[in-house]
Amino acid sequence: DNEINAKSVYSKEISECYPLCVKNLMDGLNETHHLRYNGRQQLSFFLKGIGLSCDEAMNFWTDAFTTKGGHLTVDKFNKEYRYNFRHNYGLEGNRINYKPWDCRTILSKPRPARGEFHGCPYRDWTEEKLSSELNKLNLSNHAITSVLDSCKKNEYTFACTKVFEETHPGIENQSNASENTDASSHIAHPNLYFDRARQWQK
Ligand code: SF4
Repeated sequence: DNEINAKSVYSKEISECYPLCVKNLMDGLNETHHLRYNGRQQLSFFLKGIGLSCDEAMNFWTDAFTTKGGHLTVDKFNKEYRYNFRHNYGLEGNRINYKPWDCRTILSKPRPARGEFHGCPYRDWTEEKLSSELNKLNLSNHAITSVLDSCKKNEYTFACTKVFEETHPGIENQSNASENTDASSHIAHPNLYFDRARQWQK
């Protein structure tokens, strides 16, 4: 997919399709010009899953870590991080073709400490922070309450699916038309969220 490259992953069109966990990682990366290990893994596998090639991934991570206020030099990036990102593409070490993490894998990792951005915001954010983000997405109060209820019951993927449906009107009919079952309209993978959002956009 040529549409996905080191620059376009920041575009409005593409970033509108990111679930909250990915928005959170991208915001953290922009803010700090760095991500710790679990954040790097979660975001790099997601981007690989949406079609970012290895070359473009190298451009993306080099830019993010070294320019726009980043504290690393390109030389240091190459020494300390290049291997990690190439490894994620199966080009180094044991050459495993890693798959993007599903929500279950994301939720099985240690919770993010201060200054970390991996994980799932529906689990990890405070109610205040989450409500304010959902407000920005123009969710009704009723919808916000329902999402927060799911979070309290530890049903994070249900919360995420609700947000997806609220922000993509008509999507339910779309999925019925393509004979999707209930199970497949439930979002339990950030890459599925992205794919469905892209489909809805087109
Ligand atoms: Fe990301 Fe899954 Fe959490 Fe949604 S439920 S924000 S896709 S980890």
